[in-house]
Amino acid sequence: MSTASNSKDPVASIQNNSYDVIIVGAGFAGMYLLHRLRKLGMSVKVFEKADDVGGTWYWNRYPGARCDVEVMEYSYSFSAELQQDWVWTTRYACQPEILRYANYVADRFDLRKDIQFNTVLTAAHYDESARRWNIETADGEHASAQFCVMATGCLSASKEPEIDGLDRYEGEWYHTAHWPKEGVDFVGKKVGIIGTGATGIQVIPVVAKQAEHLTVFQRTPNYVLEAHNRPLTPEDQAEWKGDYPRRRAQARHTPLGCLVEPNTQSALEVSAAERERTYQYHWDKGNLIGLLSSYADLVTNEEANNTVSEFMRRIVRETVKDPVTAEKLMPKDYPYGTKRPPMGTDYYATFNRDNVSLVDLRDEAIVEFTPKGIRTVDKEYEFEVLILASGFNAMTGALTAIDIRGKDNTAFSDAWADGPDTYLGVSISGFPNLFHITGPGSPSVLTNMLVSTEQHVDWITDCIAYLRDHDIASIEATPEAQRDWVAHVQEVANTTLYPRANSWYMGANVPGKARVFMPYVGGLGAYGERIDEVASKGYEGFELTPKAAQPA
Ligand code: FAD
Ligand code: NAP
Repeated sequence: MSTASNSKDPVASIQNNSYDVIIVGAGFAGMYLLHRLRKLGMSVKVFEKADDVGGTWYWNRYPGARCDVEVMEYSYSFSAELQQDWVWTTRYACQPEILRYANYVADRFDLRKDIQFNTVLTAAHYDESARRWNIETADGEHASAQFCVMATGCLSASKEPEIDGLDRYEGEWYHTAHWPKEGVDFVGKKVGIIGTGATGIQVIPVVAKQAEHLTVFQRTPNYVLEAHNRPLTPEDQAEWKGDYPRRRAQARHTPLGCLVEPNTQSALEVSAAERERTYQYHWDKGNLIGLLSSYADLVTNEEANNTVSEFMRRIVRETVKDPVTAEKLMPKDYPYGTKRPPMGTDYYATFNRDNVSLVDLRDEAIVEFTPKGIRTVDKEYEFEVLILASGFNAMTGALTAIDIRGKDNTAFSDAWADGPDTYLGVSISGFPNLFHITGPGSPSVLTNMLVSTEQHVDWITDCIAYLRDHDIASIEATPEAQRDWVAHVQEVANTTLYPRANSWYMGANVPGKARVFMPYVGGLGAYGERIDEVASKGYEGFELTPKAAQPA
């Protein structure tokens, strides 16, 4: 893309499309940011690839998709009226209900008028002389803004499995993150699925009930907590709604953004019987955050972690009738919680069905897709439908897909070649006036994402208001502040067991991606205090350039 300062004549079109802020993405982050910035009187334009709002909940329409943070908490808190008026029907709401909610929010706050749908942003270049971002879309449209905010999502760049021959496969195939709006009919069909992450775990039990036969290709087994999902009663709703302001405020000070007070006790300080009662309590409640927070050292001490990992393995042993299958379904080479722990409904019991079989890829690796299905080292499996639940290039994929260039024409992908260095997880040195929401180096995917999202949007909005009110032309993280923050993020991660797993948190699921633990483990509450302190000190660690200091 040519920039305004060196192109032949994109300036005219840019002048017509000139904004205070450009936002990329109309998921929960982009929607709320648009709302906040408009209230400041800013001119804002949102570009969104999809034909409607919702982000994650627009794209992931696979059967069984639902949230695994209680929806009374996994919802916006910014409007008291909104949270009183909207009625959720189940504790862990399903994808269609969450998407309806996103649409309702878009209507209620009249968001769509500033969102350009069906538009992929392909390039964003910083014009140093104007201190503005010039962007280009896949259709060749140009626009510019003083600030650009990437609300592109941590789990929005899907990836296919690195297996040869998908183009030769002649049956139907679907990636879970691009599920067709009209749905897929599995009745009476032979179906294969690759992937047993949080997505696969939700899809498998639902498809198993419809398909003639379902074959699950598992590379790494998962620890699955039973969700025990249930309808929300009027009493449940009243209890939450009667106390929402206090609960929402409290959630912002917790480590994970949910109303669970973490236990400060070690799992090793209590008797085995007491631990067992605690784990069973959280299992029966279907409370993931509760289980993860049930002892202080579950993700920091291997011996402590073994107690909960073994509890989860015992559940598999007790549920799955065939001992060989049970053995294959039990994770043994990474600690519970160090890969994103999923919640499911009847996941393990599904393997007791006659029409479900498990292929353990550690014994029988996949060689290729064939016109009829999948060939492993042992045999060929034939399918009418294939489901790819193979995950995402998480946290960085949607950003590195865009040709982002900062000062000195530095390419974003080069800046992040050795890992996604950021200052506070919201900004990057060398890329002034660019922010990203729930990015690497922030608590992000370790938390209730709606709380992290609102925290970032509020901080970014306040920052932009401050810059406007103080006649600041640009803000940029200093290299020193970024280096110190990155070191802190890694230091904290290294006190935990997280780096022990080949997880997408570590970038391990994408060949060639730098192995760095990306989210910040220090806790959402403590992180919030840190970023607020930075703001209260006039944006400590950032260089602010006043408008007057701009070159003529
Ligand atoms: P997204 O919702 O991913 O939205 C980003 C948007 O940016 C997308 O619409 C995308 O099309 C658009 N975009 C990206 N690049 C471009 C581009 N170049 N040009 C134009 N548009 C672009 N988190 C929880 O806390 N609890 C849960 O229970 C939970 N469940 C989840 C279930 C699934 C199946 C998945 C995949 C994730 C889940 N998450 C959950 C994480 C979830 O991603 C966040 O909670 C949240 O929805 C993210 O919102 P967002 O707006 O930041 O990003
Ligand atoms: P994921 O956790 O990365 O899982 C991808 C699965 O595909 C893994 O089992 C992986 O195996 C397998 N896979 C990938 N490439 C493969 C290959 N070449 N051969 C064989 N297997 C392969 O992705 P996801 O399940 O889509 O979940 C991503 C994240 O989205 C979650 O962790 C969670 O944060 C969020 N999510 C949340 C919910 C929810 O309940 N609310 C639901 C879905 C998703 P390996 O493990 O061996 O790499």
